Amino acid sequence: MMNTVNTSKETQRLLERESKYGAHNYHPLPVMLTKGEGVYVWDVDGKRYYDFLSGYSALNQGHRHPKVMKAFYEQAEKLTLTSRAFHSDALGEFAEYITKYFGYDKVLPMNTGAEAVETALKLARHWGYRVKGVEDNKAKVIVCENNFHGRTINIISFSTDPEANKDFGPYTPGYEVIPYNDTKALEKALQDKNVVGFLVEPIQGEAGVDVPDEGYLSKAYAICKEANVLFIADEIQTGLARTGKILACDHENVHPDILILGKALSAGVMPVSAVLADDEIMLTIKPGEHGSTYGGNPLACKVAIASLQVLKDEKMAENAEVMGSYLRKRLAEINHPNVSIIRGKGLLNAIVIDHPNKDAAWEVCVKMMENGLLAKPTHGDKIRFAPPLVITQEQMDECVDIISRSLKEVL
Ligand code: PLP
Repeated sequence: MMNTVNTSKETQRLLERESKYGAHNYHPLPVMLTKGEGVYVWDVDGKRYYDFLSGYSALNQGHRHPKVMKAFYEQAEKLTLTSRAFHSDALGEFAEYITKYFGYDKVLPMNTGAEAVETALKLARHWGYRVKGVEDNKAKVIVCENNFHGRTINIISFSTDPEANKDFGPYTPGYEVIPYNDTKALEKALQDKNVVGFLVEPIQGEAGVDVPDEGYLSKAYAICKEANVLFIADEIQTGLARTGKILACDHENVHPDILILGKALSAGVMPVSAVLADDEIMLTIKPGEHGSTYGGNPLACKVAIASLQVLKDEKMAENAEVMGSYLRKRLAEINHPNVSIIRGKGLLNAIVIDHPNKDAAWEVCVKMMENGLLAKPTHGDKIRFAPPLVITQEQMDECVDIISRSLKEVL
């Protein structure tokens, strides 16, 4: 597919270098980026694009947000890493800031999303054995079909996507998969007294922006409470203003027992993730039982504080809500016969391409790229539209024109 795309000689050379020396664990669009600012990125030939993926929602605040970069540069001049063998003055500041921001007793900082998910699962098991009183080695966590929580062996053990877990076995036990958006199935699964947690994405992003029914999260939370099971929300992709509220769980006034954050927690600057919980859960982990060399490093702490602060200062959740509704309305007006579904919340959106050509969504993305907008298909027929939350209406109008034109040119 790559060969059919017109790229400059220089881009071709760089693509070939990457392909020769880098592992082939992704299938990127053939665009070679070198600069980013706000909603825009530029390729090595100087061409400008709208970024409609936002680093899978890591760039909610836009590329190189000036206030986040200021915090980054200032801290980089002073101290970047202590490890957790010593204290840094930034960690306490971050811990106080983020726990007050989200209303939890404590935070445990990590780096990537997958590490934060692992942390949440370890916490849930510890809580199960040390507080709930589950018998040794019997703890079970309930997860949902079509989940995406990361790429570790443990996490892919409960993935239902063969691409994610085929030929990576043997798998880690201790999980049960139930259908997403199905509270009856959850009720049934929680009859097992060994269940310690229910791990759920408030909207399934990687599955193609699968938005559950209204009331699903609050009902699921109530079922967990009733069964003395921890409600664990993976808000790595849905969180931090992306869906029109600071957390997607806020739409249903659900306060998860364990909250998992990543991606936009550092505005696309560096890997920063975190798990939040109250003392009953968090204090089950004792010194030496969990950690990470880079987790909670001073640079990450300062970047995370700035990243969270600008979300509120610049009303990014509000803008996501308004621009998201506007985008879905404008997409519906295109009324393209091969766009069967337009769905999403705030600025986490997807369209589904219904076409006999199984590469149609990819080809639309390549055409949009040529026309100056970057988006990526997921699971073959879905295209996610998730621009930075700082996008203006004027910019959105230009983007809808590009999408509309590209659809017509390809299909
Ligand atoms: N959980 C969710 C919901 C995600 O969307 C992702 C990444 O896309 C992850 C976990 C994994 O995060 P990371 O790639 O930083 O490990």
